[in-house]
Amino acid sequence: MDDIDIAGEDAATARAQAGPLGMLRRVVKLSGKSARPFYLGLALRFLERALALGPFLAAYAWLHGAAGGSGFAPGDIGALLLVLALLLGGQFLCAYLGQLLCFLGSYDLISGYRERVIDKVRRLPLSTLRRRRAGQLAEVLSEDVKNVESIFTHVTADLITAVSVPLAFLAALAWLDWRLAASLTLMLAPALLLLNGARRWFIRSGRRKQAQFRDTAGLLVEFVNGITTLRLFNSPQRWLDKLNGRFEEMRQSSMRVEALGAGPVQLYRLCLESGLVLLLACGAWLAHDGLLPAWIWLLFLILACKLLEPLLDAAATLTVLRMAAQSEARIQALLDEPEMPEPDPARPGPAPAGHAIAFEQVSFGYPADAAAPGVPWGLRDVSFRVPQGSVTAIVGPSGAGKSTLIHLLARFFDPQQGRITLGGVDVRALGTGRLYEHISVVFQDVQLFDSSILENVRIGRPHASDAAVIDACRQAYCDDFVRRLPDGYHTTVGEGGQKLSGGERQRVSIARALLRDAPVLLLDEATASVDPEAQHEIQQALSRLARGKTVIMIAHRLNTIRHADQILVFDMGQLRESGRHDDLLERRGLYARLWQGQSTMAPDAAD
Ligand code: ADP
Repeated sequence: MDDIDIAGEDAATARAQAGPLGMLRRVVKLSGKSARPFYLGLALRFLERALALGPFLAAYAWLHGAAGGSGFAPGDIGALLLVLALLLGGQFLCAYLGQLLCFLGSYDLISGYRERVIDKVRRLPLSTLRRRRAGQLAEVLSEDVKNVESIFTHVTADLITAVSVPLAFLAALAWLDWRLAASLTLMLAPALLLLNGARRWFIRSGRRKQAQFRDTAGLLVEFVNGITTLRLFNSPQRWLDKLNGRFEEMRQSSMRVEALGAGPVQLYRLCLESGLVLLLACGAWLAHDGLLPAWIWLLFLILACKLLEPLLDAAATLTVLRMAAQSEARIQALLDEPEMPEPDPARPGPAPAGHAIAFEQVSFGYPADAAAPGVPWGLRDVSFRVPQGSVTAIVGPSGAGKSTLIHLLARFFDPQQGRITLGGVDVRALGTGRLYEHISVVFQDVQLFDSSILENVRIGRPHASDAAVIDACRQAYCDDFVRRLPDGYHTTVGEGGQKLSGGERQRVSIARALLRDAPVLLLDEATASVDPEAQHEIQQALSRLARGKTVIMIAHRLNTIRHADQILVFDMGQLRESGRHDDLLERRGLYARLWQGQSTMAPDAAD
């Protein structure tokens, strides 16, 4: 699935096109910090750039004096040098203070901005985090934030130079001779229009290129992850062809962007330089008629070149600005993602009275998306109660809604209808923070981090001592295999725990839940290809973990739940039957058929 829906992406492009000022305002507002030091720094840099005009004006005054007009007396070199020294000193001071304030101000703004973005990720529903590709989220948090940072560290200052220097020089030129200034500026307006047009065009085509890039990157990751399967099935060639096709498409669209984009940029430069030609023609004409002293014309030419320099460089700033705008738009799309509604922390509401769980007429449908419009109900009008300290097993064929039920209880999503309560309190009113204090989850897809066993288990209770962690590992039957590892409990488990087998990863996650010791346990029973001995140990560890807790478990092997206090049988999102094992068998319904099916298969068959 793509990270941003089409409508969202259109909004992002519109935002990216809205210009650097809008972007600057949004980032400043979001950072929650004062932008005053940064703006003051910018003002000083503006002044510094404008002061660059000083030496030319001093030279003019000196030349004017030498030509018999007002200004410095020809022999007054001392005064000229003093003015120049003051100007340079002023420039240095403005540059130094401006840079310092810009740096400190932007550091403050960006750190505030980064905090807000990370805080947003923290508040996103777990379902959104699972939907977004991990790599894509990491890119937003690192690369995109870095690109936005460049607006403050480089782009704005460069733009200030691109605007302030030409403005100051243009004012001076108009004062020297308005006719020459007019001839120079004649081409400025179309050049700026061209530049703006090119910027908008680049943003639009950049968006297409980025979508292609994301698509190809996703395919590449899939290819690398699945290389073993593809090689075993002897079919990597088909994927390689597909990848090559995507690379070729990317190459062609990059060439198109470069080829077509180079046109307006070169035209912009040509427009600016043709202003110089106009100026030369106008100057020659005026000088020919004796209306312009040669030295004014010369000074004019030098000033005009200085005026055009930053404008010519502005095209390069455009590229950085474009990237920053796209990054900011992507971050904004992340910030626009709906959050999980949380209760007001100032009014936390009542604490749960015990740990009984109830589903009351709960209905939930997955949000429709471009890939699967109009997804049917995940759960329909489901009601049941789980008394405190009892074990409830959820069974049913694939796609029955078992995982959806557990995900709703863990608040990956909220139901559209009905409510789920823990100890009589609606889990929405409890808030995710308080809810997660009461529950532990052991899912099939165990998430381990590339750190030591100790650290991986300690996630269950961050301040637990080493002894407590090791005790939990012993109870979860981890101790034997951990002691065989090269560094025992300090062995790092590799990315995603790849140095451990499936059964070992399961046991580490059980140890984590044991350490956490939360009163409610959500279990998705492992069906992974674990050998019988490991399976027996996992089963023992789970029984130990479940002791005295309120347990809801998805069961795939029905012979493990014969003693459950309650079995809920689901099909197509609906609760069809409920009761104990023997009652359900007697009823000869869906459960009895599932049981029959598994009895004739291998005893540990999954659904
Ligand atoms: P089970 O765990 O019993 O196999 P699930 O709860 O995973 O079933 O799925 C119930 C229904 O919801 C299925 O029709 C499935 O295709 C659909 N479903 C599950 N997850 C998603 C999702 N993230 N987006 C859209 N539909 C989903």
